[in-house]
Amino acid sequence: MKIVVMKFGGTSVEDAAAMRRTAEIVAGRRAKSLAPVVVVSAMAKVTDQLIAAAQAAERGDGAGALAISARLRHRHMETAAALVTGAPLQALIEWLEQQFHGLEDLLRGLAAVQELTPRTSDLVVSHGERLSSRIIADYFAQRGLDGAHVDARTCIITDAQHGRAVPLELETEQNLTRHVRPLLNQKKIPVMGGFIAATAEGITTTLGRGGSDFTGALVGRGLDASSIEIWTDVNGIMTTDPRLCADALRVKSISFEEAAELAYFGAKVLHPATILPAVQKNIPVWVLNSKNPDNGGTLIAAQAPHCRNPFKSIAVKRKLTIIDVVAGRMLMTHGYLRAIFEVFDRHKCPVDMVSTSEVSVSLTVDSNERLPQIAADLSKLAEVKYEGRKALICMVGENIRGQAGIAAQVFNAIRHVNVRMISQGASEINMSFMMEEGDVEEAVQSLHKHFFQDPDPTIFDVAARDAARHETVAKH
Ligand code: ADP
Ligand code: ASP
Ligand code: MG
Repeated sequence: MKIVVMKFGGTSVEDAAAMRRTAEIVAGRRAKSLAPVVVVSAMAKVTDQLIAAAQAAERGDGAGALAISARLRHRHMETAAALVTGAPLQALIEWLEQQFHGLEDLLRGLAAVQELTPRTSDLVVSHGERLSSRIIADYFAQRGLDGAHVDARTCIITDAQHGRAVPLELETEQNLTRHVRPLLNQKKIPVMGGFIAATAEGITTTLGRGGSDFTGALVGRGLDASSIEIWTDVNGIMTTDPRLCADALRVKSISFEEAAELAYFGAKVLHPATILPAVQKNIPVWVLNSKNPDNGGTLIAAQAPHCRNPFKSIAVKRKLTIIDVVAGRMLMTHGYLRAIFEVFDRHKCPVDMVSTSEVSVSLTVDSNERLPQIAADLSKLAEVKYEGRKALICMVGENIRGQAGIAAQVFNAIRHVNVRMISQGASEINMSFMMEEGDVEEAVQSLHKHFFQDPDPTIFDVAARDAARHETVAKH
């Protein structure tokens, strides 16, 4: 049996029409004798709304929280009614009612105590994937696709770090074998929510924002899938975020290593942890567009064909803070850097970039609410300054290994921008630098223009860009 894990993101399941498209795509895979396992996100924007509801309740605004929940109830009921009919619809409506009662009780409780712990927050936001996956499974069943709903919390087992829980490989694999494999043997199509999981004790956890991609990869690894497909709202991994640069081109193939760097450094199209489980079992990952399913997408695999351009793609990570630790002559004294990193470790705060001079260490971290505490702890060691609203641009490509003169081209292309910190990762396939958030758009456009003006057609979808250009010319 050739298993294909198909993950559909929020926009791919945003309403009944999108769910119908999803079913068509899944049916197409089945027609090719593949055994699909479907992982879905919450319907678009639902996670944001659940977070807003929890926060309203925490402020004591019970009415505001319940109003959000009422809107969500309406949207899910309407979608269910557009897709399912008869007795299965009755059963589905009853189930949805129960879920919303549970959610409302939770929100009322939160509003009464006005306290929101990470554990309760996970429980509230988990509703998004719980609801979408059940509606889709029931719709698939009615449509003759043999959908079978699986509560992802019975399969994906994690530690108890709420909000960004870490999966436990062995337990997860055992549960997938126990709960999902038998359904595949019965020729059913298992449908589960991404992003949500549980501890071994059954407490609900989540894998971090955008975590449904990660679930897709975990399921792929656990079931030894032959491929993992990430269905989203763009044609694949592009040369940069198409929202930043209209000329972005689809990258036809990219290596695991390159994709992992891009995801880590902000390319939202993939959750940063997605690649590792695929690498461990050497499972190819495809990124595909659910609104344009016949487009070739991007293949992420162990190796990509040679590319004549130095870079494959440019990622951007915003909302970063630079922390400068200035320590006179102490810097190079034994144990000093360790003391600094211990502070970040204690606060479980990952550091993106580090650079040192004779007297100072500069580090960048995601802006977060623990920063004042981190700065207070660091100030016991040295003088500390921190500055938010920074962004990191990360240029990735295997072809920069050993090529001279690339850095000069990069900094020439953005010579008008004030660049703060520069680093070339040990992997030698990325070049990253920090700047003000406000400078990002212009910088990315200049870099894109310089490095992708003559794209290698074996790697980049040049034909699509040329076709789009012809269309624009024809219109004028
Ligand atoms: P989903 O809901 O399907 O998981 P996301 O919104 O998480 O989708 O990710 C898709 C979005 O990622 C795209 O709409 C695009 O704006 C953004 N993106 C950022 N960088 C890239 C890139 N290099 N290639 C493609 N998309 C990117
Ligand atoms: N629904 C979750 C989020 O919006 C997970 C995901 O969509 O991947 O972050
Ligand atoms: Mg996503």
